Amino acid sequence: MSQKELPKILLDVLACPKCKGDLDYKKAQNKLICNKCRLAYRIEEGIPIMLVEKAEKIK
Ligand SMILES: [Zn+2]
Repeated sequence: MSQKELPKILLDVLACPKCKGDLDYKKAQNKLICNKCRLAYRIEEGIPIMLVEKAEKIK
């Protein structure tokens, strides 16, 4: 299964569900990062999992 790159248009509309802030797309990690909340949202099969309870805390 090939890694799908997140389309730019989708990145533009996506916001952190917790703070509604901008997200940082980490292509290598396949994650969306909210630097304000220190949370990482996973992207599964091209679909970002935008759930605070599923997000990982960043140290
Ligand atoms: Zn946030």
